[in-house]
Amino acid sequence: MIPHAGVPRQENNTACILLRLQDPGAGRNPDWPRPEAGGRLEAMSTVLIVTAGALVCLFFPLDPLRRRRGPAEPDERVDEREVMFSRINRSGGTPAYDDFYARRPEWKATDDRIRAMTPFLKPGATHYDPVLSAEAERHFEAIETFEPDRDQVDRLTAELCAGGDPDRTVRSIITGLGAVAVGCTPLRKAWVYTHKGRFDDEYGTPIDLDHPAVILFLLEMEFKAMRRAPQAEVVRESARQYRRGAVIARTVAAALQQSGWQAKAHYDAHWDLILPPLAAAAGLGEVGRNNILIADRYGSRVRLGAVTTDLPVRYDRPVHLGVDHFCRICRKCAENCPAHALETGARPVDRGVEKWTTAVERCYAYWRQVGTDCGICMAICPFSHRDTWFHNLVRAIIKLNPWLRHIARLCDDLVYGREWTSRRKETDHARVQRHRSGR
Ligand code: SF4
Ligand code: SF4
Repeated sequence: MIPHAGVPRQENNTACILLRLQDPGAGRNPDWPRPEAGGRLEAMSTVLIVTAGALVCLFFPLDPLRRRRGPAEPDERVDEREVMFSRINRSGGTPAYDDFYARRPEWKATDDRIRAMTPFLKPGATHYDPVLSAEAERHFEAIETFEPDRDQVDRLTAELCAGGDPDRTVRSIITGLGAVAVGCTPLRKAWVYTHKGRFDDEYGTPIDLDHPAVILFLLEMEFKAMRRAPQAEVVRESARQYRRGAVIARTVAAALQQSGWQAKAHYDAHWDLILPPLAAAAGLGEVGRNNILIADRYGSRVRLGAVTTDLPVRYDRPVHLGVDHFCRICRKCAENCPAHALETGARPVDRGVEKWTTAVERCYAYWRQVGTDCGICMAICPFSHRDTWFHNLVRAIIKLNPWLRHIARLCDDLVYGREWTSRRKETDHARVQRHRSGR
């Protein structure tokens, strides 16, 4: 028998446990903790250990251990003439129209039907707004007539020629002009269109772009405007950001050319490139199920611009935001797309690579019906919440591992719901009434 009485308490723990294993009531010193209290301590320790273990497992940064991969390169290039915005620009009786539908007769009936719908941004569409739609139209027109400011180009040229790090200088110039992020990547031919197609005067011109690098930048779309999708605020905001993108791309390209470098601006309706996968390769985000770039901090609420150049820039690495897996379990954009234009299932194989696809005819026909560029799939995306510390913390957690993404998706559904509800626009009449009543 192990002696117990009179043994100092701190030396007697092992003895106490052995005794209690044999006889729970044996050898009890009145100073020792009572068996029920000890049981409670053990239970609490067990709960604490299990909780700590579960938290470690839950927050284990599994994904950062994996190699970051950029988007897979398709084995076939795209002809810009086949892009929806080019197809819709063809008008009957022109050589471009005849040539295109001789080569693509299967698209003629659909395209003719869409062309016959209410023209974009014109009265007759569901969400046409005389003020906002006209403002959007003015922004789009300004893109076509814009010429870079000579004084500004001279000033930026001086910065580029000042002898500093050209990579750092060009990035700071672009963010100084209003972009929220900049990334650089080698120009990959896989994402360069084969032929021009948007406008009749350049229709069919082969694209021969041999700049080694592409500098891409992001413009943030205003959160409040996106909450109104698919109303006219969205198309006004898109047009504003496209115009800003054109100003930045053309100003920077002009400054680079004046500094002795080759450069070409890529902006709305004047793209030689498919920007979302290039932006993903440049570390600006990942491409989501909605076929739009999802950027850190802004989600899908971004517009893109680019400059291709031979300026020696440092290439960025692709980033991992957890989008790939999150899109597989989320599907919110596809389920809420009013035109059923997005994939609800697995990623199909397109031009040799697995990628999300959009039924562009359905999407664009809906745009013509409502008279805006819709934007529901951008606005509803859980990554598109406000750029606040809380949402950025959630975005950081989502990057860690698949379990946290399941939890984040459930929480997003609980808090924001699975169905899109557009914030209604306050009419002029309602605004006057509110002011009168002092609310
Ligand atoms: S809404 Fe969901 S499925 Fe769609 S792009 Fe965003 S995260 Fe992916
Ligand atoms: S813009 Fe609208 S119609 Fe087009 S894919 Fe997105 S949600 Fe669907």
